[in-house]
Amino acid sequence: MEVRYCDGCGARLQSEDPNASGYVPTSALQQEDVICKRCFRLKHYNEVQSVEYSDDDYLTMIQEIHKTKGLVVKIVDIFDFNGSFISSLQRLTGDNPIILIGNKVDLLPKSTKRNKLIQWMKKTAADLGLKVQDAFLVSATTGEGFDQVETVIEDMRNEQDVYVVGCTNVGKSTFINQLINRTSGIEDAITTSYFPGTTLGFIQIPLDDQTALYDTPGVVNRSQLVHYVTDKDVKKITPKKEIKPKVFQLEEQQTLFLGGFGRFDFEKGLQQSFICYFSNELYIHRTKMSNADEFYHKHVGELLQPPTEKTLETLPPLVKQDIKIPLEKTDIVIPGLGWITIAEGGVTVSVHVPKGVQISIRKALI
Ligand code: GDP
Repeated sequence: MEVRYCDGCGARLQSEDPNASGYVPTSALQQEDVICKRCFRLKHYNEVQSVEYSDDDYLTMIQEIHKTKGLVVKIVDIFDFNGSFISSLQRLTGDNPIILIGNKVDLLPKSTKRNKLIQWMKKTAADLGLKVQDAFLVSATTGEGFDQVETVIEDMRNEQDVYVVGCTNVGKSTFINQLINRTSGIEDAITTSYFPGTTLGFIQIPLDDQTALYDTPGVVNRSQLVHYVTDKDVKKITPKKEIKPKVFQLEEQQTLFLGGFGRFDFEKGLQQSFICYFSNELYIHRTKMSNADEFYHKHVGELLQPPTEKTLETLPPLVKQDIKIPLEKTDIVIPGLGWITIAEGGVTVSVHVPKGVQISIRKALI
């Protein structure tokens, strides 16, 4: 069959997978000048549909930035920093300057020291191989931090284009809408934006006669828990307001269940505090390690929930990882769920998470 491309975004047209890029129903393929379903909805209903790009499609699209000049604004979810970081970005975007935006700062406890966190973001970005010109904290929903970011973008873009990049769910659309709303007064610009006239598949929002802000497609990060749970459970595990950390004094051989999504065993070490940063709606249950296996099988989906029964049908089984924590103030992060700060170090713990979810360890964020 002849290979055809969408007249709107340039994606390769296909009729097999409605959730992937370039989808058109077979009947529409007979016509000339075909556009994909996503472009169709954007053009006729001003509606942005998220489609899943394969990693290859995504990399090809982002690499287009390499050939152009402009400022790259990289958004990460501060609640899930490593999980939402695209470490290959430097290679993909060439010499263009990058600024790093940590979004959703409204979720962190009010006492969080903003400057310390910004330093932490810069250092972590550098450790992950990304050179950033500067880093900022914002809340795309409340508008916190936008006065500064708006000015910085305007100064740093040097009358050139702006490319906003980030994983799905980091709040990229909310960020762009907030930015546009503040500069032009237009609400929800992204859903009423100009039809993309480029072959990059990027949504284009004009900044002036010559330049534009581009919303690039979000890459999907498979190590996040959200890919294994129902929408209802995603709502429960995604914090919506300021997190209230919960502190547990644990002795060795005690276990914390993080709903039914994770299990934290304090294997060995002196009694100390463990600070849990999770959605306020996630029920944390303490029990003895010796009966934790049995407890989980008996209560998952009921006392230990979320997950609901429905999510349990698709949730991969929990797998255990042993971790030695030599240093004080260390975070164990479960991407998409939250993290536990270990106060004193010199301990051995084990963490059980659904297979496929990759935990990370870092110097305490707060
Ligand atoms: P995108 O996939 O990166 O475009 O992300 P969206 O803009 O669709 O946002 C993903 C989710 O995060 C939505 O549920 C938003 O309401 C939420 N969100 C976005 N920005 C913020 C923020 O600053 N604070 C909080 N608490 N939630 C946010």
